[in-house]
Order: sequence, then structure tokens, then C-alpha cells
Amino acid sequence: MTDQTAQTRQEVKLRGIPGAPGIVIGPVYLHRKHDPAITARTITPGEVNRELDRFLQSVERSKKELTKIFDFAEKKLGADQSQIFEAQLMILDDPTLFDAIRKRLLKERKNVEVLIQEEFGKYHEMLLASKDEYARARADDLDDVRNRILRNLQDEKLVSRIDGSRIIVSPNLAAADALIFSRNDVLAYVTEVGGATSHMALLARALKIPAVVGVHQVATLVKPDDTVIVDGYNGLVILHPTPESIRHFEKKQEQYHSFEETLSALRDLPAETLDGHRVHLAANIELAQELDFIKVQGADGIGLYRSESLLLGRELFPSEDEQYEEYRRIAEAVFPKHAIIRTFDIGGDKFMAAAVRENNPFLGWRGIRVMLDRPRLFLDQLRAILRASTLKNLAVMFPMVTSIKEVQLAKQLLTQAKDDLRARGIAFDDAIKIGVMIEVPGAAIIADHLAREVNFLSIGTNDLIQYLLAVDRGNDIVSDLFQEFHPAVIRFLRRIIERGKQEHAWVGLCGEMAGDPMATLLLLGLGLDEFSVVPTVLPEIKKIIRSVHFTEAKHIAERVLTMQSEDEIKAFLRHMMKLKFPEIPIG
Ligand code: PEP
Ligand code: MG
Repeated sequence: MTDQTAQTRQEVKLRGIPGAPGIVIGPVYLHRKHDPAITARTITPGEVNRELDRFLQSVERSKKELTKIFDFAEKKLGADQSQIFEAQLMILDDPTLFDAIRKRLLKERKNVEVLIQEEFGKYHEMLLASKDEYARARADDLDDVRNRILRNLQDEKLVSRIDGSRIIVSPNLAAADALIFSRNDVLAYVTEVGGATSHMALLARALKIPAVVGVHQVATLVKPDDTVIVDGYNGLVILHPTPESIRHFEKKQEQYHSFEETLSALRDLPAETLDGHRVHLAANIELAQELDFIKVQGADGIGLYRSESLLLGRELFPSEDEQYEEYRRIAEAVFPKHAIIRTFDIGGDKFMAAAVRENNPFLGWRGIRVMLDRPRLFLDQLRAILRASTLKNLAVMFPMVTSIKEVQLAKQLLTQAKDDLRARGIAFDDAIKIGVMIEVPGAAIIADHLAREVNFLSIGTNDLIQYLLAVDRGNDIVSDLFQEFHPAVIRFLRRIIERGKQEHAWVGLCGEMAGDPMATLLLLGLGLDEFSVVPTVLPEIKKIIRSVHFTEAKHIAERVLTMQSEDEIKAFLRHMMKLKFPEIPIG
């Protein structure tokens, strides 16, 4: 970039959705997934050997790349979870597939790109037609391997490695891509698609890397190495920033850092209001690697462990023993505090969704529905949780529940898992607490009935809002309509909390809303018992809770319940926050 172009470039502010908190200023790394364009060609007899060489070299390069990725995944996620890459390496060693390509090249003299496309296509169809869901899941692996070879044939570079500190800007970044990139010095992620609760955003928070998602057209507007500002608190990306903007955001960065330092003093203090009303302030975790961090942040244990992250990068479900090791590690790390292990919540936008093709995955085979249809897998998980529960600090929670019957069936399976262990002479906590997530409007309406079946309810606003307001949580086009402060949401929350407590269940909230500082006073006033939040924001939420009277929070909630629009509610809460906590960044 010449000085002249630098001078003529205008600063551009792009609005997105806050994905993970933090402010960074730095150069862009532009990432686009390779989209292989293939043209058919006939090879002359004299070109056959050269074509064969190209093919073999691209397979070799693909092997090298995959081995590197496999090694990294093994280090970051452990041996079991890196199996997916091992499986891909095995495809690259499959003699049948590669012999067929070689033979057809000699006989038909088509260019290898076309042959790869066709031969991989045959396998792909076979796998997709399989009755076995694992075989169907392999179809995606096969696609990845095919694209990798084609990319190498077309001399495109591997994109998992980048030089220096960079802000990754991409039209679309899967959670797995974000993880692979995190081996580099990634300053932030910026994507065109995705919502605050998409799994890419959740992973960015787990990795503690700032992110802004749903920034329309950002990948076409920036150039590699452009300097940009990313404000993950407010979902803002500034292209070609002026020196004044850079100074302004550097100052903001410093303010946030010093504010965060003052928060560390709160670590060992309870989440208690000035008039002595105590709530639980727990952490949501995705990966066991976060266990140390949540202690530093002063969490009251774990309000949501998303156990499905154990499936990341794997092809098969982990065995009972493997799961036991993981749950035990969590129980020991948080003891004497508690940890809620949520049973596998798969489907929707989560792992393994590719195994089943559904037109409407969010309204399909998700969460408890999958596990009740796969009792063998469910029992493995329940036994693993029970075996890890002897310290008496684990609870089990079922996701995506819609009916009493589902809860009763899940409880029957839990009883069966206990009987199995008893028969094997294995110890467990017979009084393990049971909870259900309230994520579906139908479940919210029968919250009192559900509460009678269990010990606690945990409200999953990420899903509850998407189903209540008919807004896809990962669709940036309608992200404005995903409204935490919609009056219908607030009324629903009040109803669930009241009904749950009337039936002597305690009620928590583990959706992203629990970690939104603007929602804290309201949720507190609505009588929530447990906030389970992303660990990075935990001290801030504690500070808010510790700085108010419960009576005041109740008044705020009552006021909010009389309001008729999200705008009105947000304006009121923003005003309250600015008045009481000017130092806290709110969106
Ligand atoms: C939720 O839906 O609010 C929730 C916590 O679950 P997840 O984000 O994992 O779907
Ligand atoms: Mg959910």
C-alpha cells in the first residue's frame, strides 16, 4: 500500500454482533475457504506421467498438512478428540481409491481434478446412502480430504499457519477453523456470518480471543495487512482507522485493562447484594482447559459444562471410561463447589449435525431427542457421570426438553444406569441432583410440572429466545430481532422463575444473557438463583450484584415488566447502568 492510497482511504465503521469481549488493533489476515473450480481437460499421451506426478505430489502435500493438523489437535484437545484427522489421513492412504484414479488416468486420459471429483463422488454417495450414522458422518471427512488434494493440485497454500499477530477476517469460520487458527498469534476473529451464540463465538470466548461476528461484507471490504480496530464488547470493526480513532481505542483498551485489574479483588467474595441476598455465580465451560481460569475468575463452580465439546474432532462417541476420566477431572477441579454436567446436546448447529441431513435442524433431532433414541450411548454417559459423582458435587442436566415424558424417560435411564453400577459394585452419588434446561417455549409453559420432576431448572435463553421469537440464533440477517429484552422474553423468564420456585426447584440461567451486564439487575430482581456465565465476564457480573440492594433490583424488574418494547427496556436499563456503573462497558 502506498502512502497515497493510505491517505485517500476513508475510515469505515462496520457494525456486527459482539462475539467475544476485548479490544484489539492490528493487521488483517484474510481467510477464504478454497472453492475448487474444476474444468475438464483431455491429457495427451505425452502428458500422462506429468499429470500422475502432480497427483502424487498433491497427495503427499495433503498428508503433510494433515499430519501437522493432527499433531496440533492432539496437543490442544487430547488424543481422543484428534481422531477425525487420523481418519482423514487414512483416506489418503486408501489404495482402492487411488488405484482407481491412476488406472482411469492412464485409460481415459482425463485431468486428475476431474477424476478425483468423480471417484471421491462415488465414495461420497455410498457413505451418504449408508444406514450407519457414523459412516454418513465420514462423508464430510471425505469432502475435506478431496478439497485439500484439489487445493494442493491448484497450488493454493495451506491456511492453518499465519505469520505474526493477526486479526482473522473471514466470510465464514467454523468452530474447528477457529481452533486450528488459534495455534497462531490470533488477535481477534471477525466473520461475516454467525450470531453471538453461534459455536464459533462460544469457542472464541473459551479461547479468550476477542471476536465480532455477523459483520456484513467485511471480507470484501478489507485487504490483507490492513490495520483494523476490533471492539468485541460493542461488536464494532473499524477499517482504515484514523490516528485519532487508534488513540481513542488504545485509551479504551487501557481503561478496560485497569478496570479488569480492580475486579480481581472480588475473586474470593460471594455474589451477594448489599442487603445480603446471595445468588450463585457459576461459569459456563466448553473445554476442561478452562478449569484453571474459572478459579482465577472466582466462579461458584460450573453451571453448564457443554459435554458435547468432547465430541469435537471425533468420529465415535467417547467410551464410558473416557468420559468418566473427564467428568472426574471436572468434579475434582471444582470441589467443594458443584458442576452441572449437561448430557450431550447434539444437532442444530452442533457437532455431528452433518451425520443427519435435515431441512430444519434446529427443529429436528436435537439434544435429549437424540439421546433418548440412542439409549446405549445415553447410558454410557449417565454411568460415566454417576461414577464421577462420588464427591457429591456433580449434577446432571438434560437439554432441549419439551415434555414431561422426555424427563421421565431420561430419569428411568438414570435409574437403570444406577442399577448397572450397583450390580457392578461401583460407587456413585445416589442423591445426584437432576435438572432440565428450559429452552423451548412449550417447556417454559409447563415449567411447574417439569420442576416437580427435578431439583432445578436452567434457562437456556440462547435457544429459548430463538424459538420464542422465531429468530435463528446464528443468522446475522435477523440478529436485530434476537432480542433478550423483548417484553415476551422478560415475561417468560418471570413465569419460569416463579413456577420453578413454587415447586421448590431452584432456577438458574445459563444462556448468554446471564453474562450480559445490562441484564444483571433485571435477572437478579426477577429472583434468579443462579447465573451461569462465560468466565471472562464473571467478575464484572459479581461487581454489579455486590453493588446493589436486592430490593432495588426487584423494583427495577417490576418497572421493566410494565414496559412494552425492547427499545424502552434497553434505554431504561442502559440509563440505570450508566448511572450506577459508568466504568462498565455495555453494548
Ligand atoms: C442455551 O440454549 O441458552 C444454552 C445455554 O445452550 P447452548 O447455547 O449450548 O445451546
Ligand atoms: Mg441450548
